[in-house]
Amino acid sequence: MNAIEATGLMFRYRDDWVISGVDLTVKNDESIAVIGPNGSGKSTLLKLLAGIVAPEEGRVSIEGVPIKTLGRKALSRRMALVSQEGSGQFPFTVADVVLMGRAPYLSGFQMERQGDHERARRAMETTDIADLADRPIGMLSGGERQRAFIARALCQDTPILLLDEPTAFLDIAHQVSLLCLIRRLHTSHHKTIVSVTHDINLAASFFDRIVILSDGRVSADGRPEEVITEDTIKRVYGTTVLVDTNPVTSRPRVTLMTDTGR
Ligand code: ADP
Repeated sequence: MNAIEATGLMFRYRDDWVISGVDLTVKNDESIAVIGPNGSGKSTLLKLLAGIVAPEEGRVSIEGVPIKTLGRKALSRRMALVSQEGSGQFPFTVADVVLMGRAPYLSGFQMERQGDHERARRAMETTDIADLADRPIGMLSGGERQRAFIARALCQDTPILLLDEPTAFLDIAHQVSLLCLIRRLHTSHHKTIVSVTHDINLAASFFDRIVILSDGRVSADGRPEEVITEDTIKRVYGTTVLVDTNPVTSRPRVTLMTDTGR
């Protein structure tokens, strides 16, 4: 069964279509990066897949079930979303926020159990924020807060993980460790991952399939070496780049062609 099936998606916030006719099937166990120019509709597509916004036309199914028939809790047990919109301005500690990932498994005012606290602790260790557990979330740096929201998503323990720019705000060491973690979640824990990113090289190195959005449509879809070509980048981004092979990952590598005056 497919993890996510989106067909004929059309969406607009106002007059202009932001997503215009997207079909996307994500198989169980796939790891996909969605890339594309600013404003091409990447975040909006993720919101449609997560059921945060509803398409004007088309439909989204999660594990074969139409998303609009799934209740919020049932959906939250299948899929976790880490978006850029978590403000972190509420008066909770990091540990509180991570523990909120267990909400889909609790009923009414039921308190978290020992196992829930244990999961939260493991998620904080995995994302390297265990020492921040008692800090108010509003007093973290952007990168620390990002890792706290990822820990909450891990604590949610879903087969599907949707990530919107997960490496935004992270320094290079934390970028690499987070992307290695994402890959490990995919290869060892068999999570299905869809991640929006603007970084073509990270997408090519860490994901097995790349979907390029352009003007709200899927402009290319395939393995990194099929999709990341000089012609495609020129067509979609309107800029000339050099594409060769990354000697470490053997994946395509994009170098910007700038006139540095040298
Ligand atoms: P991307 O993630 O590729 O940068 P987005 O999905 O964020 O693109 O945005 C696609 C388009 O939709 C942009 O033109 C953006 O200005 C517009 N848009 C995004 N969010 C909203 C919103 N809440 N209200 C109105 N327009 C929006």
